[in-house]
Amino acid sequence: YGPDYVRAIAPYQAGKPISEVAREFGLDEDAIVKLASNENPFGVPESAKEAMAAAAAELGRYPDANGFELKAALSKRYDVPADWITLGNGSNDILELAAKAFVEKDQAVVYAQYSFAVYALATQGIGARHIVVPARNHGHDLEAMAAAIDADTRLVFIANPNNPTGTFIPGVEIEAFLRKVPANVVVVLDEAYNEYLAEEDQYDSAAWVKRYPNLMVSRTFSKAYGLAGLRVGFGIAQPALTDLMNRVRQPFNVNSLAQAAAIAALNDSAFLERGARNNAAGYQQFVEAFEQMGLEYVPSYGNFVLVKVGKDLAAGARVNLALLKQGVIVRPVGNYGLPEWLRISIGLPRENAILIAALQKALAGD
Ligand code: PMP
Repeated sequence: YGPDYVRAIAPYQAGKPISEVAREFGLDEDAIVKLASNENPFGVPESAKEAMAAAAAELGRYPDANGFELKAALSKRYDVPADWITLGNGSNDILELAAKAFVEKDQAVVYAQYSFAVYALATQGIGARHIVVPARNHGHDLEAMAAAIDADTRLVFIANPNNPTGTFIPGVEIEAFLRKVPANVVVVLDEAYNEYLAEEDQYDSAAWVKRYPNLMVSRTFSKAYGLAGLRVGFGIAQPALTDLMNRVRQPFNVNSLAQAAAIAALNDSAFLERGARNNAAGYQQFVEAFEQMGLEYVPSYGNFVLVKVGKDLAAGARVNLALLKQGVIVRPVGNYGLPEWLRISIGLPRENAILIAALQKALAGD
């Protein structure tokens, strides 16, 4: 059944859930540490739990199809009109909607090697052609990406910071890229990990949206805001773009609990600050351990680190298995073309220490 371009898709590989690893390896769920999906180690903010409890009473009704209150809160935060915002069932939804809204079958989408897996899925899902631009130092080569845009290209995906490599493009370089992109090509700037950036690396992409009618900024509540399980993200762009996104989205794509929790989390600056502090400390903890162990890693601007665990093409899979046996779940990235590497999410100090000890053991037995 189905078109060739759908049969050619390699399904998304998510991090293994704790329950599955417990069953498979005969372990106690409580003893398992999961540092595999770039989730927030503090879980759901208390403020969001309270908002959800209040919203639960209305679950017999459909959600607000236009997300009025959440859009109003985002509009205030980012200083853009509410109709410049598109809500998504996670930011994955935003990425897919962009492909569906802006690209026809057989037109082209440009993205970087080693960038987020959903760019390929969104492109292939509509039968478009992908132009994958070789990475430079594991990150985006924006000059090569600008040069790769051809007459059929209608969309460019950029992840900043990038997943799974953690690399970062300074704001000035992104803006220089935006100036080069033809007006009929939409740029989706995926900022899923933006809230983890240090103050000095921050740039004002919502202001660029006002200057570049072909720019859409994508954000998520899954990472720094701790709401991955609720599935809520959003895009910011001018109405010419959001209007098309709105035509192809599902009518109730963001559920009521997610809308309520997102508003609460957006206003919970204490939660965000605690998370950012923990992340910076955890990054140092990992980096010091990797250096001590003589492991190469890619300097990361996100809530995870890509680390090279061996020289041969089976290294990532082998060390991943050795970690799973010790009850530690991380992310192998062979499907990204990085079979010697593992991507490890930054957790609580205790979880990070367990990972470091397990990794030492795994490599000693290697
Ligand atoms: N973009 C990037 C770069 C990501 O790493 C992720 C999560 N893995 C997403 C988008 C999607 O996240 P969500 O759908 O949970 O918002």
